Amino acid sequence: MKLLKEKVLNEGIVLSDQVLKVDSFLNHQMDPILMKEVGREFTRRFEGEEITRVLTIESSGIAPGIMTALELEVPLIFARKQKSLTLREDILVEKVYSFTKQESNEITVAKKFMKPGDRVLIIDDFLANGEAAFGLARIVEQAGAEVVGIGIVIEKAFQPGGKLLKEKGYRVESLVRLAALKDGKVTFAEEEVN
Ligand code: 5GP
Repeated sequence: MKLLKEKVLNEGIVLSDQVLKVDSFLNHQMDPILMKEVGREFTRRFEGEEITRVLTIESSGIAPGIMTALELEVPLIFARKQKSLTLREDILVEKVYSFTKQESNEITVAKKFMKPGDRVLIIDDFLANGEAAFGLARIVEQAGAEVVGIGIVIEKAFQPGGKLLKEKGYRVESLVRLAALKDGKVTFAEEEVN
C-alpha cells in the first residue's frame, strides 16, 4: 500500500532495531483517511470469504479493525486486556505476552459475541512474534468459530510471527512488510519495493 509505505517512511520513528514508533498516524494520533484505505484494502484482499466478524485487540487494533468492519458491514469485537481474572463462565480467555510491554496479559472476549459458525477476520496494527495474533486465533477456536485470516497493517518480517502463523496454516495478509530497522532507517521487504 503506497500511502501506508509513505507514512511509514516519512513519519515512522525507529526506536531500536526492534521497535518502530508510528504515533502520528496509528498508535496515538490516528489518520482516518489512511485507516479508511486500510479497511478497503483488507476487504479487497479477503473478498469472497463471507466474514461475519472482525476481531482485534485493544487499543491500537481498533482503528484498522473498525474501518475494515465498516467496509465489510459486520461487527468489530476488540479483545480486552486484563491483568488477572477470576474464572468466569461467560468469557473466553487466553494469555498473551505483550511485545511492547514485556508482560503477560489475559485477553478476553464475551462468549455472546462469538459463536460456532462465525467466520472471523483477525486484524492487528503490528506483527512481531505473533503472540497477539495466536492469542486471538485461540479465542476464535475456543468459540468454535473459524479464523478466515489475519490482516496486519505493519509486519516486521525480520521477526518470526508471520512465518509461525503461516506454518500453522493461517492466511496472513500484511499491508507493508519491513525487512529491517537499522541505524534509524526503515527497509521494506523485497516484494514491497517499488
Ligand atoms: P506480537 O504479539 O506479534 O509479538 O506483537 C504485536 C503486538 O505488539 C501488536 O499488537 C503491537 O501493538 C505491538 N508491537 C509489536 N511490535 C511493535 C512495534 O515495532 N511498534 C509498535 N508501535 N507496536 C508494536
